[in-house]
Amino acid sequence: MGVAAALSLSDAPRALAGERAGAWLTVDLAAVRENYRRLRARLAGARCAAVVKADAYGLGAARVAPLLADEGCRDFFVAHLDEALALRPLLGEACSLFVLNGLPPGAEAEAAEAGIVPVLNSLAQLDAWTALGRRQERRLPAVLQLDSGMSRLGLPAEELARLVEAPQRLAGLDLRLVMSHLACADEPSHPANVEQLAVFSAGCARLPAAPRSLANSSGIFLGDAFHFDLARPGVALYGGNPTPDAANPMRPVVRLEAKVIQLRDLKAGAAVGYGYSYRAGGPMRVATISLGYADGWLRSLSNAGRAYLGEIALPIVGRVSMDSITLDVSALPEGALGPGATVELLGERQTVDAVAAAAGTIGYEILTSLGHRYHRRYLDG
Ligand SMILES: *Cc1c(COP(=O)(O)O)cnc(C)c1O
Repeated sequence: MGVAAALSLSDAPRALAGERAGAWLTVDLAAVRENYRRLRARLAGARCAAVVKADAYGLGAARVAPLLADEGCRDFFVAHLDEALALRPLLGEACSLFVLNGLPPGAEAEAAEAGIVPVLNSLAQLDAWTALGRRQERRLPAVLQLDSGMSRLGLPAEELARLVEAPQRLAGLDLRLVMSHLACADEPSHPANVEQLAVFSAGCARLPAAPRSLANSSGIFLGDAFHFDLARPGVALYGGNPTPDAANPMRPVVRLEAKVIQLRDLKAGAAVGYGYSYRAGGPMRVATISLGYADGWLRSLSNAGRAYLGEIALPIVGRVSMDSITLDVSALPEGALGPGATVELLGERQTVDAVAAAAGTIGYEILTSLGHRYHRRYLDG
């Protein structure tokens, strides 16, 4: 779809702001929808939730969550209570909002009042939540998380044992889900996957019957045994590859383009950027583009990453600055690129995962680092 077609009349003033912007981030909401459908299609019996923490991995939870509710998603996970409070008015009554990190002590009443469901990660959190339920004479909904191996969040084995010995601690609770989280799901042959599966299954068997959830995006691709009743994909919805050893089964969602601000011809030996970390090996042409680490283009991409003009790769030379990056454009024919032209940083030529590999990180960090200075465009259908 063309840019003009994607913008409604009411967006016109923002379109002008877009003209002035140094860089544009385009979020293809139709691709998010399609990715949700593809994930759901892989889950024979299980429901498909959506993890929309960290502002839907940087893409805009206020846009993404209602759209997925429209696709039939009813279960939304965030990390913090404040993220849930911000989304609550945007989602209908039929949708549940779960807080993965649990509630800060003292925030229980506010969460209950707003209809937000905590993930209980310890016996202390469980007791605080059931105490509120007793005071309010309500059966409060909750998710119980078990630590199946990654030593991060959830009841460790000793706490589970104490709970099994004192099952009345769960009394009065509406146990909506028992969950755990996989540490190595992106490595299908890692022994931790089946170990965590076994620990989780055994833990659930010692608790009252409740729906169960284990799989994140990559976990969905580990097979039916990992699906249980609810899957919790995040990154795959946003186009990240949940199967890093194979072709990406998801549709790309983000496109990032930046404007060329200046070009210059360098002589052999000329230095580029802070620290003079790059020296021209011979005559070359460089272009400076209008985005930098303040926009989330990681500094580790200094002398490492690249942009694209069509199919031609334009390597980053020198350090990534706060607001600009310098590219080696010598491969381009004379006149192919002038000030005001745009180059692609994320999109058809370069995926989020490819940039992550160049930066020595994971696609999650590239997405959640995406800055707020970009002119953002949302395309849907
Ligand atoms: C972030 C998160 C997810 C989503 O993980 P992806 O790998 O992005 O699919 C699922 N469950 C928990 C507990 C998480 O913290």
